[in-house]
Amino acid sequence: SREHAKRRLTILGSTGSIGTNTLDVVKHLGGREAFEIVALTGNGNVPLLARQAIAHGAELAVTADDSHYTSLKAALAGTGIAAASGRSGLIEAAERDAGWVMAAIVGNAGLAPTLAAARRGADIALANKECLVSAGGLFIEAVKKGGGRLLPVDSEHNAIFQVLEEHQRQAVERIILTASGGPFRTKSLEEMRHVTADVARAHPNWSMGLKISIDSASMFNKALEMIEAKHLFGLKPEQIEVIVHPQSVIHSMVGYTDGSVLAQLGCPDMRTAIGYALAYPSRCDLPIERLDFAKLSRLDFEAPDEVRFPAIRLARRAMEQGGVQGAVLNGAKETALEAFIAGQTGFLTMAEIVEEVMDKLSDLPAAVTMDDVFAADEKARQLAAGLLQ
Ligand code: NAD
Ligand code: MG
Repeated sequence: SREHAKRRLTILGSTGSIGTNTLDVVKHLGGREAFEIVALTGNGNVPLLARQAIAHGAELAVTADDSHYTSLKAALAGTGIAAASGRSGLIEAAERDAGWVMAAIVGNAGLAPTLAAARRGADIALANKECLVSAGGLFIEAVKKGGGRLLPVDSEHNAIFQVLEEHQRQAVERIILTASGGPFRTKSLEEMRHVTADVARAHPNWSMGLKISIDSASMFNKALEMIEAKHLFGLKPEQIEVIVHPQSVIHSMVGYTDGSVLAQLGCPDMRTAIGYALAYPSRCDLPIERLDFAKLSRLDFEAPDEVRFPAIRLARRAMEQGGVQGAVLNGAKETALEAFIAGQTGFLTMAEIVEEVMDKLSDLPAAVTMDDVFAADEKARQLAAGLLQ
């Protein structure tokens, strides 16, 4: 019946940039005719979370912050929508029987709930790259064991996923991740030294959440994406290339053993990747601006500068060392990034702190269980916090 054809969908991080774009795509794909929204989660923005839950008839709304539970409950009074909060609330949202989960919480906070959804076999649309950066192979294993599909939403990985034919996987020689270069692509180290978070968050092409925007300016976003790609596509570090492409029209490329390079192109709008994951394996109709090649007229490329953007070099090092180095890099990066946003440290200091923490923790053994991943992340945060003093 039609009822059964509805997709049951949970959005972890529905109040963020990816989350609100996902609800917009849901609307374009038929809204409540086509989807049942199972659970929505947010953090500080309770009014938006409550509005979304009511508008989409969600079964459960969860705020990650326990101190917001009372106001969420009040906002949902009389609606029949259940409210919950904190870590246990996020896990409850992930474990509800939605066949499809959008993982769009920012940072390592998304790891535990996304894992819970993966373990019970939900199809995971993965925006939260930190899952793969920190937990890598263990996360992939959890998805395989659960039996759900892993659908990349990060635009670069979604592009590769779109052009990488499963039956030609053996012939993949390399992948080429494109990077816009961010707002400081042409700035000198001296100019970057004193920038504030407000300046660093202004991305030239993409509209995104605060943290990923600043990570784009430092190219830590690309660093995370290199590690993400390694795990997603089962590649060796040397098969992963980065090219700066300021127009963000080519979203990434796959190079094959016969010399062919396949690319996915489009206007920079995350709804393409979200829609591709939501409609997979079909394609959907979306009112996204179409590429006008005559207007575009040219596409530029340049090699990334690893002196001004050491994040790229640090990602290579983390990939080559393997083990928990992804968790170490990310934990230290998140701590340094939060300090930068709070105005407590400089823009260039972020990479220095990450490198120092990686130096100190280079002997950590590979993770056997998820607890080892969480422990490495915690150690990296503590060391980074100490260096920030
Ligand atoms: P955002 O900051 O706009 O939204 C983050 C969401 O996570 C919000 O719903 C927020 O309430 C929630 N959240 C924040 N802290 C939390 C915590 N401690 N516990 C639980 N929930 C918390 O971020 P975004 O730009 O939407 O990015 C989400 C994820 O998607 C990130 O991992 C990012 O790297 C990835 N991503 C985003 C884009 C993009 O265009 N925005 C593109 C590619 C990948
Ligand atoms: Mg990306």
